[in-house]
Amino acid sequence: METTLIDGKLIASNIRKEIAKEVEEFVQKGNSAPHLTAIIVGNDPASEVYVRNKGRACESVGMTHNTIKMQASTSTQELLDTINKLNVDQKVSGILVQLPLPQQIDSSAILAAIDINKDVDGLSNNNLGALLKGEPNFVPATPLGVRALLQRSGVKIPGKNVVIVGRSTLVGKPLSALLSMKSDAGDATVTLAHSATIDLSKITKTADILIVAAGIAEFIDGTMIKEGAVVIDVGINRIDDKGNKKGYKLVGDVNFESILSKASMATPVPGGVGPMTIAMVVSNTLYAAKLNN
Ligand code: NAD
Repeated sequence: METTLIDGKLIASNIRKEIAKEVEEFVQKGNSAPHLTAIIVGNDPASEVYVRNKGRACESVGMTHNTIKMQASTSTQELLDTINKLNVDQKVSGILVQLPLPQQIDSSAILAAIDINKDVDGLSNNNLGALLKGEPNFVPATPLGVRALLQRSGVKIPGKNVVIVGRSTLVGKPLSALLSMKSDAGDATVTLAHSATIDLSKITKTADILIVAAGIAEFIDGTMIKEGAVVIDVGINRIDDKGNKKGYKLVGDVNFESILSKASMATPVPGGVGPMTIAMVVSNTLYAAKLNN
């Protein structure tokens, strides 16, 4: 079977063009451009790259953004004070706290403090709870990106057996709620597999749509999937590569070569889910601007 590549970069670029049009109309009505404020605590290079990319994506659609950089030694209270100011700042449409936070900070308290109508990452208890009830407000960007990839690739989700590998609060859990929700873009029968799952392969082979977010390089191979499955690889892992001038390369949680010719459709890494996550942060920022208007 020929495996069709799902081009996340292209789909994300199309979504950004659609958002740019909406932003233009929003501004023409006399509103300020949507504004995203990101907060980074500490100097994690990966976090800086992610925030920079989200900022660039905002600019590309006519939104404004700024980044607040705080020292690695910042306390929970200091970060709460910053968030409380942003919550009441009318110029700020969306607030994003880049994770992970340093250990001394109570991440749950921080995420819970973000105004539910500015919570573009959708990770506050209120927004996660609303999603679980089937009444979504803000939904985390990666799950939204995965769903959009499926929809825009013509994959029908209702009635399908979906297996998600990984139960993180960032990806697996909200994605299971999103795809099982009563909706034209949901209504799937979702199995959530995780580190305590027994005989993972037996379960992944039941998947019409297999979504992998385990954080283990090339963990899933062709022997673990059903013929014709759609495979979405959320994983981003750095592995040593002496042939590359950076000294490493990025691979997913799926052994891509081994699923080719068995999967009907699959996402590459990089260029699959990654660009979609960024496009969905931008989409959530536009939604925030409309909500707060
Ligand atoms: P996480 O480490 O929080 O969670 C990993 C999950 O995998 C856990 O729930 C765990 O139970 C499960 N797991 C671990 N070992 C397993 C095993 N042997 N069998 C079955 N399940 C197992 O990770 P996360 O934050 O959800 O991220 C997962 C991956 O996705 C990482 O590679 C991360 O870099 C990547 N990621 C990518 C994007 C993107 O935009 N593409 C966004 C978020 C995360």
